[in-house]
Amino acid sequence: MSSGNMREDALRSIPSVDLAMRHIEERGLGAVAPRPVVVRAVRRALRGIRETILASGDDAPTRDAMLGRLESEVAALRLAHLNPVINATGILIHTNLGRAPLAPEAVEAARRVGETNSNLEFDLATGARGHRDALVRDSVCELTGAEDALVVNNNAAAVLLALNTLAAGREVIVSRGELIEIGGAFRLPEVFGRAGATMVEVGTTNRTRSVDFERAYCSRTGALMKAHWSNYSIEGFVERVSAGELVELGDRYGIPVINDLGSGALIDSMLLGIPHEETVAESVEAGVAVSTFSGDKLLGGPQCGVVAGRADAIGRMRVNPLMRALRPGKQTLAALQATLTLFLEGDAIERVPVLRMAATPAARVRERAFALMTRAGERLPSLAHADVVESTALMGGGTAPEAGMPSYAIRVAPNSGSAAELARRLRVAERPVVARTAEDAVFLDLRTVRPEDEDEMLAALLGALEKGMDDAAV
Ligand SMILES: *Cc1c(COP(=O)(O)O)cnc(C)c1O
Repeated sequence: MSSGNMREDALRSIPSVDLAMRHIEERGLGAVAPRPVVVRAVRRALRGIRETILASGDDAPTRDAMLGRLESEVAALRLAHLNPVINATGILIHTNLGRAPLAPEAVEAARRVGETNSNLEFDLATGARGHRDALVRDSVCELTGAEDALVVNNNAAAVLLALNTLAAGREVIVSRGELIEIGGAFRLPEVFGRAGATMVEVGTTNRTRSVDFERAYCSRTGALMKAHWSNYSIEGFVERVSAGELVELGDRYGIPVINDLGSGALIDSMLLGIPHEETVAESVEAGVAVSTFSGDKLLGGPQCGVVAGRADAIGRMRVNPLMRALRPGKQTLAALQATLTLFLEGDAIERVPVLRMAATPAARVRERAFALMTRAGERLPSLAHADVVESTALMGGGTAPEAGMPSYAIRVAPNSGSAAELARRLRVAERPVVARTAEDAVFLDLRTVRPEDEDEMLAALLGALEKGMDDAAV
């Protein structure tokens, strides 16, 4: 038979949308997404199959291959949903995994204002229009010593708003050693451009002194800026200008200092077993006009950006028209307020999940790992070589990039199949688990797994391993 005829046959054997949908339903995949979305995926898959056939020479896909492709395109919809996953990576604040898990109080607060109306911009005492961040403002000021505060959608927005408000059409002096890029294409030099400010770089990659800033100062200077290193470190012959030194210079010339703190420590990070991070209070105390930080890093709250600082600077930021585009939603504000309340009540380390995970003694993590192995019983050792090993967890989220914290992981080397395949199966499990792979084993670091998720993680692990045995037997 000529390849032309084979193509014709193959094209004729492409199932209709109706038939394909029936096949999908028989496979139990009909409900992985709303029906119109499933139909859409089926049409897309059928179109793809048609194109493949038209492009192929002698080897048109078999009908089984067509159905397989159909199934995998539809099955992929389940994973495309925003789903809760178990973070077994050992990276506490994992940006790709949604950063900080919220405290139950924060979840409840977001639910309460989400399901009904609220006084978001309504002053209940006077009946007049109010400000959406009035409550949060007092809490941030109390926790940081700032005169005023405001909240935007994330820290990138906070930096953009600060630069635009204080330095649009003017120059901002910043050290060459601090021109950071954060994951997801936040590059400080580009943010300057979008904010309408001109960046003036001073010093060198490893050493910048106060006098470098002073030499670059001129009548066009609008602000001095400092940024946290976040995701890198420079070792060796290093010199940086402190917030205090910049404030001294700024005060002399009457220009504000912007300090992008990144992770936003409200408490001393040494309490969490990692090196000291400049706290927001320290930055405020140094006299910085505007300190910016994320709500979902070390603060352990929802995604947002918080700005704390001097009343004049923050007041100007509040009336910047950009503020309207950057303002956070009511559920974000509710969750942030509830998280700040935990700090104000003095027991954030026990009650804010990210802080609790960091502060858990390594011995306790080890106990949990062994207890989980015990609960796994005989099933686990029959499917894989598994043991408890020391591991190193990281804070993540731009906090102490070099400082590991002692942790423990369950190391699983499957009897059949590769570690990479096991890791993949864990990711596509009913409750996905994201783990680390190394040395042909999967490592499940218990420090970042919530105790209440341990049993589901175990079920996913055993399920993934058993599936491997079945496939190997076929
Ligand atoms: C994380 C970080 C940002 C970006 O914060 P988002 O909340 O992700 O927008 C900006 N600057 C620094 C120094 C950071 O660490």
